Amino acid sequence: MMTTAELDRYQPDAMGALRTAIQRGRLPHAVILSSPGHVGEDELAALLAQTLLCERPAGALAPCNECPQCHLFKTGAHPDFNEVRPKGLMRGIKTDDMLELIGRLQATALMGRAKIGVIHQAESLRKESANRFLKTLEEPMPGTYFIIVTTRPERLLPTIKSRCQVIRLRPFDGSVLRERAGVELGLRGKDLELVCTLSRGRWRRACFLAGHLDEYRVLIKDLASVLCARGTAAAPAAECARAIGDALKAGRKAFDERCKAELSARAREWSDIEPKVRREMLDALEEDLKSAQAADERDEKASLFEALIELWRDVLVLQWTGDEALVLHQFLLGQVKSLAAAYAGEEIMRNLADIDLVRGPAVYLNMRINLVLQGLLAQAAQPVGQHVPLRRALLATGL
Ligand SMILES: [Zn+2]
Repeated sequence: MMTTAELDRYQPDAMGALRTAIQRGRLPHAVILSSPGHVGEDELAALLAQTLLCERPAGALAPCNECPQCHLFKTGAHPDFNEVRPKGLMRGIKTDDMLELIGRLQATALMGRAKIGVIHQAESLRKESANRFLKTLEEPMPGTYFIIVTTRPERLLPTIKSRCQVIRLRPFDGSVLRERAGVELGLRGKDLELVCTLSRGRWRRACFLAGHLDEYRVLIKDLASVLCARGTAAAPAAECARAIGDALKAGRKAFDERCKAELSARAREWSDIEPKVRREMLDALEEDLKSAQAADERDEKASLFEALIELWRDVLVLQWTGDEALVLHQFLLGQVKSLAAAYAGEEIMRNLADIDLVRGPAVYLNMRINLVLQGLLAQAAQPVGQHVPLRRALLATGL
């Protein structure tokens, strides 16, 4: 969790914009916190909400932490504070959840000060609830505030966006990321260097990489080997993609077992709770576990494409500068040199464009990742004269 002092340090623009709006009494009824992800947006949403509920704030974004409202807020039980977030494997905000939130906000404030609705990952709002939400925004009720948190503001309805003040949070700058990665992730030396460079200011990416550094090194080595094979890359591409697909499957299976074990442990622990309530608690827990697993799996898939991009970036840097010291993956220097000799600059640019084209759908639309990757690698390695369009390369994998 990030403290207010840390928010001030890491997100001075966002904090400043909100403070000014509050001080001038011009805080709009709906604020969008647009964030690159995991840079303090949840903490900022909570701080803003608590400030609005607090009876004696010491200033803008400075709740007293002592009044009954603040106490209630911190227990997570404040009746005028409501949040929705995506649940379940498909990771959309459920329409029912959203309608319930709107309904609660339309009722009278229970404690009398303000009513707050926080919508996390608002980009996943479904059409029906987005439209209902829009209606609510069109007729704002006094004392009601929406805090809309998103990492993909471009996916919000333009009509929603135009009714909100957009507050942008920024990626951590290099020194902040380095400091936090050292302290919170326990990284040192080369690992710290690599994670800081690869995550490019994104804290979630840094956390993921810190937990998967060995796998990352193996993965990028495998990818480089496939691409080094050039004309004979088809078989190793299929092999590499199959191994990755198998690893994802194994991860899912392990999760299912963990999930089952956790649920039966809780069921035993909660055995004296009334059956209907216990069932609801278990269902909620299962949904939370599945959401977390889905998010992890998306990180893993996204990581595959990022590794490919980073690999090509190294190759381009070497081609352009000839300076081996600038290669980020020093443990891969030999292969990077081979790739720089084997691929023309335009080919690499085309490969990067192809990666960009498929990675969104592959990560978010549950496409079969092994087939996408196989097509991408095989296509990338095709000799110039035999290059086929990406679509055909993907179809050839059976996708
Ligand atoms: Zn207070």
